[in-house]
Amino acid sequence: MTTHDKMSVTNATGIFFDFKSHAETKISFLKLLKNKNNMAQQGNIGVTTENIFPVIKKFLYSDHDIFIREIVSNAVDATQKLKTLASKGELKEEAGDLTVRVSIDKDKGTLTVSDRGIGMTEEEIDKYINQIAFSGANDFLDKYKEDANAIIGHFGLGFYSSFMVSKKVEIITKSWQEGSKAVKWSCDGSPSFTIEDAEKTDRGTDIVMYIDDDCKDFLEKYKISELLNKYCKFLPVPVAFGKKTKWDDKEKKSVDTDEDDIINDTTPLWTRKPSELKDEDYKEFYKKLYPMSDEPLFWIHLNVDYPFNLTGILYFPKVKSNLDIQKNKINLYCNQVFVTDNVEGIVPDFMTLLHGVIDSPDIPLNVSRSYLQSDSNVKKISTYISKKVSDRLSSIFKSDRKQFEEKWDDIKIFINYGMLSESDFYDKAKAFALLKDTQGKKYTFEEYQTLIKGEQTDKDGNLIYLYANNKDDQYSYIDAANAKGYNVLLMDGQLDPAMCNMYEEKFEKSRFTRVDSDVVDKLIVKSDEKKEELPEDDKKALTETFKNALPKLEKIEFNVEPQALGETAAPVIMTQSEYMRRMKDMSRLQPGMAFYGEMPTMLNLVLNTDHPLIKASIKDAKTEVVSQLIDLALLQNGLLRGEALNKFVKRSIELI
Ligand code: ADP
Repeated sequence: MTTHDKMSVTNATGIFFDFKSHAETKISFLKLLKNKNNMAQQGNIGVTTENIFPVIKKFLYSDHDIFIREIVSNAVDATQKLKTLASKGELKEEAGDLTVRVSIDKDKGTLTVSDRGIGMTEEEIDKYINQIAFSGANDFLDKYKEDANAIIGHFGLGFYSSFMVSKKVEIITKSWQEGSKAVKWSCDGSPSFTIEDAEKTDRGTDIVMYIDDDCKDFLEKYKISELLNKYCKFLPVPVAFGKKTKWDDKEKKSVDTDEDDIINDTTPLWTRKPSELKDEDYKEFYKKLYPMSDEPLFWIHLNVDYPFNLTGILYFPKVKSNLDIQKNKINLYCNQVFVTDNVEGIVPDFMTLLHGVIDSPDIPLNVSRSYLQSDSNVKKISTYISKKVSDRLSSIFKSDRKQFEEKWDDIKIFINYGMLSESDFYDKAKAFALLKDTQGKKYTFEEYQTLIKGEQTDKDGNLIYLYANNKDDQYSYIDAANAKGYNVLLMDGQLDPAMCNMYEEKFEKSRFTRVDSDVVDKLIVKSDEKKEELPEDDKKALTETFKNALPKLEKIEFNVEPQALGETAAPVIMTQSEYMRRMKDMSRLQPGMAFYGEMPTMLNLVLNTDHPLIKASIKDAKTEVVSQLIDLALLQNGLLRGEALNKFVKRSIELI
């Protein structure tokens, strides 16, 4: 292999490393390199290899676990290269069994990864293994000083990560090339290494790691199983870890069988053709990824090869709690090697609510997150995924509206989040996003506009969307609005307050008004005509009477207002202005608006001067009638409690 080959191998496979810890690593490591470089320039201390191993051991990875991913994926790469040679007819012998094997020898204190891939000649070890750490560090820095990423990408990766957990590492290897001699390379973490002839008949490589005393965990079967399951579950070449076990009735314990325990699925669902897959396959795969989750609602199989390479399956989960979102994340793979479950910056923010797998060799992982977000490939990927998701939703909506409506409550939060955060997504989603009324009927935006246009347009030509956020609490208001021929939307979702604001911006000449924000006649003002009003004196007297009878409630202020609402309307109605309520709602979400949160809640007590009970109270107010009317209004709004409620009940009985 030429040096050029080596670099391209690095590019294709060299990005398997820990994403999360990388930013910190990069900074500290670069600092380290820089400082040393400066010193070298002063001509005092040359940078020698003595400095490099401690760096590998201590600084390079904060997450030691990933060494296994590096070593096993090197073995897989070597195996795949062998397969390529065999398929081109360049291999003179039989390829044979190509299983990669991971084994523990507790007595020797070793963890070994063996493959039957291309192996290495002595020259190749020298070139690919020795020169990285054993060439003068000055040369090394010189070579890569223009390209910090190359240092990280090159240096921070791969084989040397085994020294994070090992006091000594051996490579015993025999190249695929005819007439190759087996060699054994050995290094105990000091800058010197030995290389000697070895006994090895089989082609391929054994990496033998003598596990450090403080890392003994890595000699435990459960620990290695766990790591293989995390990082290697979908590698494209079979990986065996021990033997399958079976229960032995005589021995009363599990015993090993002869069969290898293959820990991976070499052709995970996302690598297969969508046309060959059934719904059941997708559901089964989801169960495999998230054993504790409910069945997914929908899924999307992603598959692009131009202008970037990406495959994957995204699932719309049935989200039961926030916890589900936090723990079941999208997993990012690179050529079937697990990289991270932190896809922030790679998929649009709202899509982090989805589950599933994305596999792409084109996501530059050896860079910081802020760089990632400005990377043009990543931007394209993000746009592509977003478009795929909206296309899929749109096609389900068109082909099976019934199913779409049934699942609406579960996908609503996701679609709403997308609409709020990405205007491109809004533009697509406005055709299939739904509004639900208090009776559970669902409408598209267009359908709903058509529905309410006739009855709910005010005198200035604004369309008034009435809504409730609690069907039970606001029952009487909804009822009154329905009786008047209005439709009331149910906006009880977590994001609905923000959605109301957004709809008002997006829909032309539209306003959202909560159904209890005014008396039903005034919810939608249709003309400027004024009804006959009470004389000022009577108004004043009535207002005073009720004001004096109102209870003192903490953080609530009442405004009493006589209005002629017709004989059939209720005598007393309590309302809260849409504007004030929204300000208070928002202040709860936005720190800068605490001022509104501190203000008392202003409630309007509207007295219907057309109602006989109020009419009678103008001239001759009876204390118990006034109190009873007030209490009824409070009761309807859940504000009558404790002693006041008790008094009300007693008074009611007396009145009967
Ligand atoms: P990278 O894999 O990023 O190139 P590594 O440090 O992991 O970096 O490995 C350096 C090189 O050593 C590889 O590119 C490969 O040529 C060689 N190598 C490592 N492991 C094996 C193996 N199991 N079989 C054959 N070659 C290997």
